Amino acid sequence: MSYTFPRSTDLFARAQKSVAGGINSGIRKMEAPVPLYFDHGQGSRLWDVDGNEYIDFQTGQGALLYGHAPAGMAEAIGAQAKKGTHWAAQCELEIEVAERLQKMIPGAERVRFNNSATEVVLAAFRLARAHTGRKLILKFEGHYHGWADEGLVGFAPPPDKWGTEDEPTRLHPSQGVIPEVLDQFVVARWNDPEHLRRRVDQYRGQIAAIVFEPVLCNTSCMEPVQGLLQTIRELCDRDGMMMIADETITGFRFGAGCAQTHYGVVPDLTILGKAIGGGVPFAAMVGKEASFAKILSGEVVHAGTLNANPLCLAAAKWCLDQVIELGDAHPHQLIGLGQKMMAGLRTLADEHSIPLRPQGPGLVFHTTLLKPGAAEGPVTSYRDYVQRHDAPRWAHLRRCLLENGVRAIERGLWFLSLAHSENDVDEGLQRASKAFA
Ligand code: PLP
Repeated sequence: MSYTFPRSTDLFARAQKSVAGGINSGIRKMEAPVPLYFDHGQGSRLWDVDGNEYIDFQTGQGALLYGHAPAGMAEAIGAQAKKGTHWAAQCELEIEVAERLQKMIPGAERVRFNNSATEVVLAAFRLARAHTGRKLILKFEGHYHGWADEGLVGFAPPPDKWGTEDEPTRLHPSQGVIPEVLDQFVVARWNDPEHLRRRVDQYRGQIAAIVFEPVLCNTSCMEPVQGLLQTIRELCDRDGMMMIADETITGFRFGAGCAQTHYGVVPDLTILGKAIGGGVPFAAMVGKEASFAKILSGEVVHAGTLNANPLCLAAAKWCLDQVIELGDAHPHQLIGLGQKMMAGLRTLADEHSIPLRPQGPGLVFHTTLLKPGAAEGPVTSYRDYVQRHDAPRWAHLRRCLLENGVRAIERGLWFLSLAHSENDVDEGLQRASKAFA
């Protein structure tokens, strides 16, 4: 089996005459040989307009925790659509979703909704600055917090502009950003608690918040080293900074309490996106009541025409109910399947002398393809990743996987969903074997 994509190729050529660049999110252009056009999905499977079927490990960049087109969700959205999609006013559904979040996440005393995690990140930074009366946000190299000016600082600096190990530079990957935005940030390296302490001490009394992905999923897939999240909590308590967990990817993937419960910390604010809406535009900021004080007093503006629209709330309520119903079974199921997939990929790659190194907690993982001569062992930081991962060779391998019916994320991340089964993993590995050959 080797797929061809004539209809996607035609549609992409047509799109470029109307849609700027032919795509609506920059990363989609990375898909080779051509950005694909899809027709429908069901469970773990996805079909493109050329009739090619994929076992999908991309799962809408991780949003489709419940798989493609789950029947219950379609019913919930359909029933709500008949009653109205948008009122720009209150409805009982928003309380029902908020109450579920309160029960699921320790520390979720209050909730606000938006349409994307990018927006929620901006709201959280604004709130933290108002709450503390300080300007700086400390973020980690390689962590992604949405595509807005403030979310992208320090995301993917090129090696010649890294700065020193002690003083990572503040860089923005986009033009058109007001240069002063960079002055609002301190960048630290991930997974080095002592370096973090030094960085905080260097700016003591000026930092409003520390923001982080609890598992760094936007650069390889790196769990926090033992004690790192506790160090962030301790420093935030010591210096009156807000601890902001960006659980856009990890939220609900680790079960009802999210990654913060798995790793044993309670942040001041948490950003939720992707799986909270199962594929509809929905996001939330949850946290301690005290963290919301400036919103309650009206001193911080938080708004949005489509915030808490009933269509997305109906979807979110259905999604959260799935997580609640499955309880602890859900992360175990995902971890087990993911780890089986990781081990299978490693064995197959070894058989074909491909230095592929899957890493991550299983329910999400990354496949690092080592450069010739690169050291073995887990990738531990953004810089380590850039130095050891062979991105062009991975892009080629990803294309071979795609042409054999296995779809992973362009930069090497794989997501399991609750719709994936042992059979999907077994069949995925059979297909991967052909791709590796
Ligand atoms: N934060 C993290 C950790 C993310 O991975 C993403 C998106 O991938 C975002 C924020 C932004 O989410 P959205 O694209 O839904 O605005």
